[in-house]
Amino acid sequence: MDLSRRQFLLASGAGVLAAPGLAGLVAGESGVETGSRDESVWIAGAPPMPAMPRYEGDRKVDLAIVGGGYTGLSCAYYAKLFRPDWTVVVLESHKLASSASSRNSGAVYAKHVGISDAEMPERGLNRLRSFIATQEIDCDFAPASTLMVLTSKGAAESAPSELEAGAKFVSAGELRERIGSAYYAGAVDTPGYFRVQPMKLAVGHARAALRVGAELFEGSPALSVERGKPARITTPRGELEADNVLIATNAHTPRLGFFRSAIFPVHQYSFATRKLTSEELGAFGLDRWMLRFERRVLPVTFSLTPGGQFFMRMVLGYASHDSCEWKDIEGAQSVARRLFERRYPKIADIGLHDGWHGVTGHTALFSQVAGAVGDGNIHVSAAYNGFGIMPAHNNGYLTACKLTGRTEDDTRFLTGATGHLPLPGEFYRSLMFKPIMRVMRPV
Ligand SMILES: Cc1cc2nc3c(=O)[nH]c(=O)nc-3n(C[C@H](O)[C@H](O)[C@H](O)COP(=O)(O)OP(=O)(O)OC[C@H]3O[C@@H](n4cnc5c(N)ncnc54)[C@H](O)[C@@H]3O)c2cc1C
Repeated sequence: MDLSRRQFLLASGAGVLAAPGLAGLVAGESGVETGSRDESVWIAGAPPMPAMPRYEGDRKVDLAIVGGGYTGLSCAYYAKLFRPDWTVVVLESHKLASSASSRNSGAVYAKHVGISDAEMPERGLNRLRSFIATQEIDCDFAPASTLMVLTSKGAAESAPSELEAGAKFVSAGELRERIGSAYYAGAVDTPGYFRVQPMKLAVGHARAALRVGAELFEGSPALSVERGKPARITTPRGELEADNVLIATNAHTPRLGFFRSAIFPVHQYSFATRKLTSEELGAFGLDRWMLRFERRVLPVTFSLTPGGQFFMRMVLGYASHDSCEWKDIEGAQSVARRLFERRYPKIADIGLHDGWHGVTGHTALFSQVAGAVGDGNIHVSAAYNGFGIMPAHNNGYLTACKLTGRTEDDTRFLTGATGHLPLPGEFYRSLMFKPIMRVMRPV
């Protein structure tokens, strides 16, 4: 093993996990971040994620997957299913599914951003549903009555004449009466959405991968991935030589040194009430519409957890140098609280109790980054632009097909690893995206 190279990575700050007491303190301008993460409301409501060991030693493997969220775990499951003879290893820097996969809003829809074939997302959704059914994952997956809530008069005026099949217009007056909000100009009751408990789904992914024999490691960041055949991955406690690699690190991908000019992390904050009484659920119309998307440049989502908590999710903005850590949680809470109360004044009496931070991977033109890089043995699947529950699972499947040589027509969609519009450099990026939270303040 090349000790000096690993020592260099550790010394450069990329390997802070090697000194657990320092984790989070040393995250500088580059390198993998290892700071602690808060808990989302979903983690408390799900069965425990199986605890996994840290990766140690030097090994040669058939497939190494960096990142243990939906994408990485889905790929591990399918790859091992298709090639039981392969050694499949997942390296997760923190706890499994402790980033976006346990922090999202749980809305699932047949949408795959940037894919032109309208039927592909439908197939992706069916794959996810069939995975949930065959693995018997109890994750509250069910249809969700959904409102696209409109904030401008103009949008509300044109909405009735632009309705898609099965959609219905809901007037501002009706909303005032039924959801307890006078904030909106109207809404469109939109079919086709589902709701899932994100962490239960993630635990189901991990258990499925373990059942087929994939090896999962936590607290085991990949400090570097070196191209080549085999590729070489350095971790704080050992190295892997891998014939195939999937980089499934979503918003964290630039900090690993990949796609720095194509992917940028966007920070989000979610804030939830306590479990509401049935009377309160009725007052907010949550017994009628459980999922609500505000149609605006910086979208706000409102939803009901299967456990009866009303929550919202808002965009915070960008943190320097592609950092996935957000320092000002108090500031985030205060903006989120005001935003929530402005729309639903009764929230001021009920209060907001459980808040959590999250980060999504984005590209300039909202298309995913998915496909082979370098010699073709390293794949990446990331940047679902905030709507990735189904696409992450689906891309895990497609990448497993591609790497194991299984015939699958939809692998033709894994072509997005090149050709992305380059993002502006750090200075302009900070200038453009950092103040989003301040922009949100008055609305
Ligand atoms: C607040 C919020 C709301 C959202 N709402 C929705 C929604 O309603 N519907 C929807 O479809 N999508 C939603 N999303 C997006 C969705 O959650 C993500 O697209 C999806 O979880 C991506 O899964 P992933 O496995 O690719 O990435 P992640 O879940 O982010 O997993 C990546 C993993 O890689 C690990 N990692 C990073 N760097 C390294 C390294 N160097 N070595 C090892 N491991 C590393 C991370 O710790 C992490 O666990 C939301 C996301 C957020 C944050």
